[in-house]
Amino acid sequence: MSLIVQKYGGTSVGTPERILKVARRILKAQATGDEIVVVVSAMSGVTDNLIGLARQVADHPSEREMDMLLATGEQTTIALTAMAINALGGKAVSLTGAQAGIVTDGVHTKAKIANITPKRIHRLLDGGHIVIVAGFQGESFDGHITTLGRGGSDLTAIALAAALGADLCQICTDVDGVYTADPRSVPSARKIAEVSYDEMLEMASLGSKVMQSRAVEFAKKFGVIFEVRSSFNDEPGTIVKEETSGMEKVVIRGVSVDRRQAKVTVNRVPDRPGVASRIFTGIAAGINVDMIVQNVSADGTTDISFTTHSDELPKIKRLLGPLVGEIGAHSFSAQGGIAKLSVVGIGMRSHSGVAAKMFELLGEAGINIQMITTSEIKISVIVDEERVDEGANLVHAGFGLGEETPRFAKSIVS
Ligand code: ASP
Ligand code: MG
Repeated sequence: MSLIVQKYGGTSVGTPERILKVARRILKAQATGDEIVVVVSAMSGVTDNLIGLARQVADHPSEREMDMLLATGEQTTIALTAMAINALGGKAVSLTGAQAGIVTDGVHTKAKIANITPKRIHRLLDGGHIVIVAGFQGESFDGHITTLGRGGSDLTAIALAAALGADLCQICTDVDGVYTADPRSVPSARKIAEVSYDEMLEMASLGSKVMQSRAVEFAKKFGVIFEVRSSFNDEPGTIVKEETSGMEKVVIRGVSVDRRQAKVTVNRVPDRPGVASRIFTGIAAGINVDMIVQNVSADGTTDISFTTHSDELPKIKRLLGPLVGEIGAHSFSAQGGIAKLSVVGIGMRSHSGVAAKMFELLGEAGINIQMITTSEIKISVIVDEERVDEGANLVHAGFGLGEETPRFAKSIVS
């Protein structure tokens, strides 16, 4: 007998019919003799609607009350899921995060899990129950309801799997696994059988928003092996785990695209200590800066460029105007219409020539690279948004990702 934690996201429990389908799946899993703990999200759209309601009654609602409100989304689905299972002849009990023993710090709307005491879950499992736990929520040390940040049900599932010592943790969602690229723009994309935590983290932060990054970080820290799979079919999904030596043989695990980026350049910034700090503290309020590149200085000045989401452009223009004068820079320019194309793979650590190969593939197609950044397992370039899909397809094919067995390093440097 195994203990399985299954998580169902908002789309999977988005309608009463879908909740019934999920209930049947859960019963089927239990029928094989396993113990089942289920974590559910709010029905899709519900959390956003609750946030919208709050805005209509208050400009700055307190975060404590936001948590009180947002936690109701998941409380609805746990009750409905338990009812559905019971109506189908099963035996299920729903628990809020607090009832499940999930204790967090007191940072409302983005609380961190401090500890989990799943005594009550164990007791219910021993009694033959299926336990349905509300995702995304917990209780602070002093008894307030807290939430774990958007997408936090993933974290609930991973943390519960760790605390319960589960044999298997399945993240059941509306995609059937992690792909080598987004199949909507790269038709030859394939489902990846196994991916390392680090690759998954890079891909999540790169826009393949399959899972909440904090949940993957938590899994990595506690060694929780999990599977991302579809809640609509029974196909095996993608296993996410610590890297193995076999994984390194594949140079690139995936290609990802971040659209609607913007490039901002501050021209002729005086090359003095403290200036970069002034620029970025000046725009830090609410703006998420991604790549930052500073040029080698010439004549005592340098150019500093960064990228951000193009929605931030109006804010950037408002904040940067006065700053440019203050620090004595020449000017700044801001431009949308660009996108970030990245390749990710732990194989890069042990294989050379990956960057050169990527640049060659883009160069041959006449796709201009405007900025480049790298990390140990990722290379990202900024290109015109208009050509990013073409670039993604070329790179995907060039590294053999559409093939059954992706090409190994030797072939990329040939
Ligand atoms: N319902 C929450 C959200 O929409 C948590 C989750 O779905 O994981 O962010
Ligand atoms: Mg969600």
